[in-house]
Amino acid sequence: MNKNDIIEITVTDISADGSGIGKYNGMAVFVPLTAVGDSVVARVLKVKKNYAFAKAEQIIHPSEHRTNIDCSVFNRCGGCVFRHIDYRTECDIKQNRVAQTMRRIGKVQFDPKPIIAATNSNRYRNKALYPVAPNGELGFYSKRSHRVIPCGDCLLHPKEFADAADIFTNFVQKHNISVYDETTQRGLLRHFYLRYGFKTGEIMVGVVINGSELPEADQLVNRLKTKFGDNLKSVILNINTKNTNVVLGDKNVTVYGRGYIYDILCGVKVRISPQSFYQVNNAMAEKLYKKAAEYAEPDGKNILDLYCGAGTIGLSMAHEAKSVIGVEIISSAVKDARINAGQNNITNARFICGDASDAAEKLENDGILTDVVILDPPRKGCDESLLKTVALGFAPQKIVYVSCDVATLARDTAILEQFGFELKEYTPVDLFPRTAHVETVCLFEKK
Ligand code: SAH
Repeated sequence: MNKNDIIEITVTDISADGSGIGKYNGMAVFVPLTAVGDSVVARVLKVKKNYAFAKAEQIIHPSEHRTNIDCSVFNRCGGCVFRHIDYRTECDIKQNRVAQTMRRIGKVQFDPKPIIAATNSNRYRNKALYPVAPNGELGFYSKRSHRVIPCGDCLLHPKEFADAADIFTNFVQKHNISVYDETTQRGLLRHFYLRYGFKTGEIMVGVVINGSELPEADQLVNRLKTKFGDNLKSVILNINTKNTNVVLGDKNVTVYGRGYIYDILCGVKVRISPQSFYQVNNAMAEKLYKKAAEYAEPDGKNILDLYCGAGTIGLSMAHEAKSVIGVEIISSAVKDARINAGQNNITNARFICGDASDAAEKLENDGILTDVVILDPPRKGCDESLLKTVALGFAPQKIVYVSCDVATLARDTAILEQFGFELKEYTPVDLFPRTAHVETVCLFEKK
């Protein structure tokens, strides 16, 4: 096979990032934007030693899983990977990926429970961070670069975000405000930031700037107020003057409102500050937490909630639990967690700001007893030292592991197994429809 060859190929599998895969003369060929069951004529773009990439030029026989693509920037913006196939098939793909990864890396001998599918596969996200294009339009970085693909109305975002994006772009263009250029590090506007409480309707608007002030900020505030009225609870400037890919800087200046919003998650009123982690899909986070509670059986238990963000998982179990201790590294999230406990009349929860491994070790040295440990780490998973402290030090009855990356979860599953904890059950939960991501919640018990 050579570059520019025209080949006919039938798609038999799909990769984690949504690319169809077929075999040609025994070699795997990745053909983006195809579905299992498609027969296509494709042009070979690149040939490697064991696989190749090709572009579908004509569909000879379409797969029954195909759907009409409803987004003009699909496959360019770096967000969705599954808009060309139906949602049920997407769930099957995610289910299989979780099963296969746990089998291959985690050496798990049994399949996950059926994936908990999303009720809405569109307009579910409560947070957006748009880079600003040189002309003031908002959009997303293209797949492998920092070129902005304009898209003010993303189908994953609520309609309110499109309205706010429009207002912002008009404001930038009218006042000729400069846009940050990564190569020269000049210009003011870096990102536009939105958060939305699905249960409360509250909106936070943020502008990430390379500087300390936004010219005519009150004009922007007025236009947002006219559009959103009382639902507009905060307009903030986030100061980021560093030459970095990290989007948010450390400092927030509130130019309007209270500087945070509220939402409700599993009955808990949650305060969300600009920097606090908050699950992006409220409806599905509730299902995830419900499953986590089913696994944890918090009744009368002492719970340690590691990587707790604004405290939401632990707080959602606090009314039944005997005690909750949360650990989180971002100090503003810890502050939110403490306030969240107070506002919900929860008196049996406390929160520690620090690295999960260090804090766990200290708690263990202090002789703290826990019955259930919840682990909800970022994508890189847990340090082995933390798993050791949890499994051998605390030796709880149960560990409930919530993961947003099945590869690191599978690795950690094998480690927990060595430390005497057995995986009893695991369930994928689709918090991120149309994207390549999937969440998994697991129950481990002491052998
Ligand atoms: N359980 C929370 C947050 C999960 S996201 C929820 O469901 O909303 C993972 C969290 O881990 C983030 O809040 C992140 O700030 C925090 N984190 C990342 N590294 C950490 C570390 N080394 N120690 C403690 N927390 C950490």
